[in-house]
Amino acid sequence: MRVKRLLDFLDASPVNFLAAQNIATELEKAGYRKLDPREPIGIVKAGDKLYVTKNDSSVYAFHIGRQPMAEAGFRMICAHCDSPTFRIKPNAEMLCEGGIVKLNTEVYGGPIMSTWFDRPLTIAGRVIVRGQDALNPQTLLLHVKRPLLQISNLAIHFNRQVNDGVKLSKQKDMLPILGIINDELEKGNLLMNIICSELSIKPEQVLDFDLYLADATPACTFGVHDEFLSSGRLDDLSMCFAGLEAMIDTDTTDATKVLAIFDNEETGSQTKQGAGSPFLAMMLQRIALAQSGSAEAWYQAIERAFMISADNAHAWHPNYSEKYDPTNHPVLGGGPVIKFNAAQKYASDAASAAVFAEICRQADVPCQRFVNHSDVAGGSTLGNILASSIPLRGVDMGNAILAMHSCRETGSVADHLYTVKAFTQFFK
Ligand SMILES: [Zn+2]
Repeated sequence: MRVKRLLDFLDASPVNFLAAQNIATELEKAGYRKLDPREPIGIVKAGDKLYVTKNDSSVYAFHIGRQPMAEAGFRMICAHCDSPTFRIKPNAEMLCEGGIVKLNTEVYGGPIMSTWFDRPLTIAGRVIVRGQDALNPQTLLLHVKRPLLQISNLAIHFNRQVNDGVKLSKQKDMLPILGIINDELEKGNLLMNIICSELSIKPEQVLDFDLYLADATPACTFGVHDEFLSSGRLDDLSMCFAGLEAMIDTDTTDATKVLAIFDNEETGSQTKQGAGSPFLAMMLQRIALAQSGSAEAWYQAIERAFMISADNAHAWHPNYSEKYDPTNHPVLGGGPVIKFNAAQKYASDAASAAVFAEICRQADVPCQRFVNHSDVAGGSTLGNILASSIPLRGVDMGNAILAMHSCRETGSVADHLYTVKAFTQFFK
């Protein structure tokens, strides 16, 4: 049941904007009230359930504790809702021989580009339409729920070395084909026609868009025992959803609970809706001030808080064991993974890892530890970026997956269930 919910969430969330909206919808169903950050926070009471969004692509939920944040701190789970993909450029249509139209795109984040070939893709994102005045246009979300495009490979007969490794050009090799125009009127309007018919609007209303490519094949489980997950965007939507499940499933406690879903992790987090933004800190600060009436409250709250920065980790790959640390290589199904890095690309240290490991023990969940092979650079994540603006105690963790940043990643069903249990324990 939990796994079916995850798969449905993955399918309904082809890009950041849709993920943020789906998370907000689940929060609303669970009794969370949307805050307008332009208005005063007002009175904040124990048990209040609040959320706020930024740029339609990040979501922050607050379940106010029985005690003020200054006294009991807050417990936060953060994750990110963006994933590597291709962004559709302005003036994207390129008319080719035979009336074939391909789309001009640019890369978002760091996808494994070859995995995007030869599979049905679709388009999703947001469309900005004319509103009451120039400064306040209207936003409509778009998710075309059918196969719409494909990035086709070159036949092996034209490139006999294709299986020896191919260098791919983002500008030449990765452009998807969208259709064949039937009449003159479609020329240059193919994409706009789709947008307008999907959203029931007229072309003259459309001011601009943030649209991306997405895998059109539904997420699924596989394996003899259905033990694996196969989906795009497990990094990091699986962690977003585990955090959401825990947030919704737990009652009011002494400490305030926070779920922070950031955008733009894949491009470095330095946007107003990313983990490098002061927005979350400002919202928490406003809540602490509303509760206690003193600026001191926020600084006290920070010192009593704990953060779990949840972003997927690398699972041991049976075909490439040489890429992994000899003694710390988490496996699929082995439970959530605590990530360590001597250069502090991860927020974890012995003190914060101990907290998370103990939470796992209390929840009867196994946990694993990940460190890079010392000759491999590895990636970074949210925890240390957030800690540089809010000096929080916290741990970097995530579920182990294979083929991170593939159009189709592989995860573990058991790990998802374990992590929801551990997060629920953390919020109890
Ligand atoms: Zn990630």
